[in-house]
Amino acid sequence: MRKKILGNRLSHKVFLMLVLVGVLPIIILGFLALYSLNVSHRIDVAYIEQKLINQKIEEIEKFFDEIVSTLELQVGFEQTSEIAIESQHFLLKQFLNEHAAFEEVAFVSLTGRESSKWSRIYGGRVSDEELIDLSHLERFRKALGGDRYVGSTYRTLKGPMISISMPVRNKNGIIISVISAEINLSELQSIVKRSTLGSEGYVYMVDGDGFLLAHSQEENLEIKDMNDWGFVRSLVGGRRYLGVENLQRYESPWGETVLSLGDYLPLLKVGIITEWPIDDADRIVNTVRNQIAIVGFLVLLFTGLVSAILTNRIVRPIKTLEVGTERIARGQFDQPVSITTNDEIEDLGDAFNKMMQGLKRLEELKEEFVFIAAHELRTPVTAIKGYISMVLDGDAGEVNPEVQKFLSEVRKASDRLNQLVNDLLQIARSEAGRLKIEVQSIDIAEAVQSALSELKPLALEKSIKLVYNPVTTPPVLADSDRLKEVLINLVGNAIKYTMRSGDVIISHEVKDKGLITHIKDHGIGISVEAQKKLFEKFYRVQTEETRNITGTGLGLFIVKQIVEKMNGKIWVVSEESQGSTFSFSLPLTTNIKAS
Ligand code: ADP
Repeated sequence: MRKKILGNRLSHKVFLMLVLVGVLPIIILGFLALYSLNVSHRIDVAYIEQKLINQKIEEIEKFFDEIVSTLELQVGFEQTSEIAIESQHFLLKQFLNEHAAFEEVAFVSLTGRESSKWSRIYGGRVSDEELIDLSHLERFRKALGGDRYVGSTYRTLKGPMISISMPVRNKNGIIISVISAEINLSELQSIVKRSTLGSEGYVYMVDGDGFLLAHSQEENLEIKDMNDWGFVRSLVGGRRYLGVENLQRYESPWGETVLSLGDYLPLLKVGIITEWPIDDADRIVNTVRNQIAIVGFLVLLFTGLVSAILTNRIVRPIKTLEVGTERIARGQFDQPVSITTNDEIEDLGDAFNKMMQGLKRLEELKEEFVFIAAHELRTPVTAIKGYISMVLDGDAGEVNPEVQKFLSEVRKASDRLNQLVNDLLQIARSEAGRLKIEVQSIDIAEAVQSALSELKPLALEKSIKLVYNPVTTPPVLADSDRLKEVLINLVGNAIKYTMRSGDVIISHEVKDKGLITHIKDHGIGISVEAQKKLFEKFYRVQTEETRNITGTGLGLFIVKQIVEKMNGKIWVVSEESQGSTFSFSLPLTTNIKAS
């Protein structure tokens, strides 16, 4: 079975279709807008972070260049031995004064032993006894070989430090001594301190071992090992994270989700990292996103409303036609449908109304035909009945038994024909509005008695007892002739459809401002299925038992029409092979409730 998405109503389908047609492009466009907004925003974030990193690298390089250029000493061509000791002390003192980053500076003679040393911790010149031998250290050997040596970062109470040593040459390029310095890297902290990234983003540096060197938002830096972060680890391993394609998103060491870039500076062996908390970085874009969402929602709402209105416009005329069709099915041809859509559906409405008129005419013709035919048939049928009765009664002389037998059959058939003609005439009258009902206050018991006395011979024939205890009943509003017709029909059926002898009981009950009359039999009963169609025109129950019972299937239809025209109701309660009780109500003349 097909699954119902929104039910099977046309209105639901049209609504769904309109909503889809209206909403799908909006949803797709909305997603595209959000996607491109996201992409371009990520590019912006990466650009800003990278710019900051480049700027910090420039500052660090400047700092390093200053240190190195200070230490680059050149002495005269002739000078082939060490600088005179006084000059050494003079120069070292100068260095300390010139740059705050110099913690300790020393000249080392070509043998590897320090020849002079100045230190900030000592507050100036270091005594000769404390000069040490560096000959076995790489920092000395590298410089002696003519290269610049930059050591790894190490920690002191005064902050992170590195060692630098360089050769001292004369103008001919001959190395005459080595200069060695301990550089305080606290300056890096002041370089990152001046950095901003949105309102919550920050920048920090790590040394070659992955330890925190400087942080733009942290004042007192404890020694912090950052190697737990794979990002930092691979950065100090030399990998660079630049450009939007390398923008990282992770939980930062400081506990926020960040968008991050990083670069490694081999010169000083430091990594520099920017981390921008995503909430802060996306603040502006979030506002735009919310605005898109609100506009999207409003558009959806609008589309829904417009779809509902359009659906109504499309479906309403169809609904009108449906109601018109139902009216035709009920036999009402007087109310044409009104559709003013100014299109093909309006044409359809006009065609529908024409069809309704045609059907009305057909119905009228049919009624007229049935009425005329039944009316014209009545006279000859009555004549046949009368003459046969006369012949059978011997008015035309002696009739031999054989002929009498045949004539009895002819009389039975003419009785049935007479009944059919009467029923048809009754219906034709009723449908043409010619069924005259004149209600007045009557005593129902009289109508019952009269009907029963007419049916008595029939009941006697089948040994059926008609039981009626006339009690005093309040008067009802009814047409006494029609009421008698109803009673003759119902009691007649009760007798007709009782095969073996059994009582037919007629009783009354006052209920809900009306008088109910029950006709109860112990006959063949009626199935639940048949009960539903019982009061329809020409309906007859087709069973083994009813096969030989003659009838037209019009009696109950007529009875119902009459009862309803007298403002009453009729119903049946029945069980197969147990019997049936037909009941009908009639309004009381005075609505006095019986106690
Ligand atoms: P009919 O001329 O066939 O009696 P009715 O309209 O009077 O037409 O009844 C319709 C059908 O209802 C009958 O054919 C019969 O099968 C069923 N019916 C009516 N009254 C009774 C009853 N008292 N007991 C059983 N069946 C009944």
